[in-house]
Order: sequence, then structure tokens, then C-alpha cells
Amino acid sequence: NSGALNGLNSSENAAPADAKNLRVKLVLLGDSGVGKSCIVLQFVRGQFDATSKVTVGASFLSQTITLQDSTTVKFEIWDTAGQERYSALAPLYYRGAGVAVIVYDITSPESFKKAQYWVKELQKHGSPDIVMALVGNKADLHEKREVPTEDGMELAEKNGMFFIETSAKTADNINELFEEIGKRLPRPSQPS
Ligand code: GDP
Repeated sequence: NSGALNGLNSSENAAPADAKNLRVKLVLLGDSGVGKSCIVLQFVRGQFDATSKVTVGASFLSQTITLQDSTTVKFEIWDTAGQERYSALAPLYYRGAGVAVIVYDITSPESFKKAQYWVKELQKHGSPDIVMALVGNKADLHEKREVPTEDGMELAEKNGMFFIETSAKTADNINELFEEIGKRLPRPSQPS
């Protein structure tokens, strides 16, 4: 739907209507298979479907939440849909993003390495005030864990990121992830 895409592009530079109603582009980054699509579907639809591979796809999904201070945050969520393989496209993908969520799988050290790559990449090419979150997903698979919680915490701390472990399967910490991001978004200054 090009109308929606145009609307989104034009919102990149426009200030939100007011400080109580925020709108932000959020991109998900991380290895294929770490659960990016499942995190989005759990957040937006409250579903986990382990049997069908769902791709959020070419377009984006949006979801609005209300924070405790009654600020509303509309997330416009972009999934890479496999484009992480074409790293030359990546800067286009996260251009204009106010939030980057870097996801790894706690059972996969490889995916944690890839997360470290994305942190560097965003520091080089992302917007300087981007809010970054590091997410260790599949926390329900604790018997298969290969990435200690402390490693995630350390990477996040070093790079000024918010860190959380989630399970898109059980929905553990999924809403908390987006609420915490919402709290960390810069508020536009109100005209006095
Ligand atoms: P993406 O390529 O990063 O978008 O990954 P997907 O969302 O397609 O998920 C990849 C696979 O991991 C699927 O088979 C999911 O069912 C599974 N998966 C995703 N999140 C979780 C989770 O939190 N726990 C478990 N046990 N499996 C998950």
C-alpha cells in the first residue's frame, strides 16, 4: 500500500502532534530465525504460532500503547523480512528509525555475535538519538541456553542500550519491552 508508505515517509521529519501522542518508526534487526516476526505478532496480535512461518513482510504493522503517564506511543514496526542478508540495503531500512530493536536467540551464540555486529553498524550509520534495545529471545528454552544473561547485560550496558530477555512463545516480557522503549523515547519540547 503505497499510500501508507508515503504517509510514513512524510512522518520521518514531521514533529508528532504533541508530546502526549508519540509516533515512531521501529526496526527489528538480528539473525534470521531468532524470533523477530514472532515478537511482533505476539505484541500486535497476542498470538504465537510455532507451526507456520509468518513474515511480517514488505510493509509494516503498527500498534499503539498507552504508558502509565497516559502518553500514547504509536509504533510503526518494520521487519527485515530477510533483508538482513543484503547488508547494503540496511542503511535504507533503518533510515528515519527512532528505535532499533536488536534481537538474538539465547540458545545461539552465533546470533549473539550478529547482534554485536548490528550494534556497531547502528552506531556508525543510525541516527545519533536512536533508542536501542537489545533483546535475548527464546528465554523459555532455558535448558538450551548458551548465551548467559550477563553477556547480554554487559553488551547493552557498554553501548547505552536497554536490555531484556523475552519469550515470543509464552509472551514473557513482550509488552514490557515495548513499554520500556516508549518510556525512553525523547519527548518533543512543548511550545511555551
Ligand atoms: P525471524 O526470522 O527472526 O523473524 O524468526 P521467526 O519469528 O520466524 O521465528 C523463527 C523460529 O523460532 C520459529 O520456528 C518460531 O516458532 C521460533 N520462535 C520464535 N520465538 C520463539 C520463542 O520465544 N521461543 C521459542 N521456543 N521459539 C520461538
